[in-house]
Amino acid sequence: MKHQWIGGREVQSRGQTIEVINPATEDIIDEVPRGTIDDADHAVSAARQAFQKWRWIPGAEKAQALHRIASNLRGHQKELATLMTLEGGKPFCENRDEVEWSAGCFDYYAEIGRNSRGTSLPPVFEHQVNFTIKEPYGVVAAIIPWNYPLLLLSWKVAPALAAGNTVVIKPSEETPLATLALAGVFAELPPGVVNIVTGFGEEVGEALVRHKGTDLVALTGSVETGKRVAQICAAEIKKTHLELGGNDPFIVCSDADLEVVTRAACWAAYLNAGQVCTGAKRFYVFEAIADDFTDRVVRFTRSLKLGDGMDPNTDIGPAINLTQLQDVHSRVEEAVRDGARVLTGGSRSTIFKKGFFYEPTVMVDVRQEMRLVQTETFGPVLPIMRVRDIDHAIELANNSTYGLGANIYTNNMEWAMKAMERITAGTFWINDPLTDNDAGPFGGMRQTGHSRELGEEGLDEFRETKHVHLDYKQEIKPYWYPYSEYNKK
Ligand code: NAD
Repeated sequence: MKHQWIGGREVQSRGQTIEVINPATEDIIDEVPRGTIDDADHAVSAARQAFQKWRWIPGAEKAQALHRIASNLRGHQKELATLMTLEGGKPFCENRDEVEWSAGCFDYYAEIGRNSRGTSLPPVFEHQVNFTIKEPYGVVAAIIPWNYPLLLLSWKVAPALAAGNTVVIKPSEETPLATLALAGVFAELPPGVVNIVTGFGEEVGEALVRHKGTDLVALTGSVETGKRVAQICAAEIKKTHLELGGNDPFIVCSDADLEVVTRAACWAAYLNAGQVCTGAKRFYVFEAIADDFTDRVVRFTRSLKLGDGMDPNTDIGPAINLTQLQDVHSRVEEAVRDGARVLTGGSRSTIFKKGFFYEPTVMVDVRQEMRLVQTETFGPVLPIMRVRDIDHAIELANNSTYGLGANIYTNNMEWAMKAMERITAGTFWINDPLTDNDAGPFGGMRQTGHSRELGEEGLDEFRETKHVHLDYKQEIKPYWYPYSEYNKK
């Protein structure tokens, strides 16, 4: 795919190209443009021009367009899921679900986008009327990571469009193909309402962030990238919407159903080869059941099938690239040097000649201060730490600079509610990890970010509030000049 999509047309870039690699086979599957500052400029101009019309399109008409996008996504489900599997490595069934969730998100914002445009307020004096209207920002730069290319795009683009903004999308350089294939899905929209540029974050991505014509930068990515984007935007007081890294705790209480929690823990730790922002990355297990839980988790982990995501029997796919795999392995090795033990896994798989496959790994004797636990380990690793009681678990869960999600397995109401209230996290899951709901806000606390996606909050992130004050009677107000008269009253 040697074109970008700007102003409703396929556009050749004057820049070079980037190879897209299948992480399961290491084959080059395609090339995409390595976008330039000129490409960013072209896309932002197209989006600015389109904004002048799109913002005034009535809500019901916008809703129809978003519903058609949802239906187009469903119509291209197989093709998009295949592309995502080839470029990103996730098992096909996970990518098929991702397309459906993306469509569901467009349907959701089609409806709530036309539901309200502000509120009516009680006035402070007679014959006044006060209300707010919500307005779009203008052009949104939507910068997306590689782990959920279409879902995280939808969480930004659907509310941004429903609110009346236009968008320039920059997918990850690792996974641009399914995003470029959306040109057909977005063909419903007037030219320039959605544009897609491809290339590296530091190049075309940063050009969008710096561009005077972008009004809001919505980024999902690492904390480091978020800090850089926030610093650049601060110079212009440009609005940012940041969804950054996570390091979610998973508490297993003594009353947990071990059969259920074993499956839940493995799924939460290994989903998408552990490359999920809300993946469970630190397991705090009550002493009383720690041995039993550990044995079961090791046995179940050994039963899982590592492989190419196109194989229907595959449970866990490859890491996205060699750098990612080496980063995970270096953390495991460092923890082992510091006294942790690997019970299963712990290295790159030797059963494949090609591909970035890392064995699902269970570790014990892990300590809170280890880098494996303190920072985001983006791989299929399940580190187990023992805790005395719920207070100990809460204390360790909170010992983090991140605050995306947190999990607990228990039917003890007091433990669950205490942990829910005291753990700093944007989402708290009780007995059901990682489940999203389009109507429920999603996002992080602390360095994970300051924004919310999904829900009504996710729409408001893309709208500014204007307060309107009117008096239906023209009269001279007693508190106006001259004060000699006002002071007599
Ligand atoms: P990344 O930060 O390397 O890249 C994310 C996107 O930002 C990519 O498109 C990249 O090209 C772009 N980018 C990089 N530098 C840039 C710059 N200077 N200016 C503009 N754009 C730039 O992240 P990644 O490796 O693609 O994704 C993994 C990270 O994303 C993990 O930390 C994960 O936790 C996080 N993530 C967070 C959420 C969430 O909702 N909080 C969801 C998924 C992933």
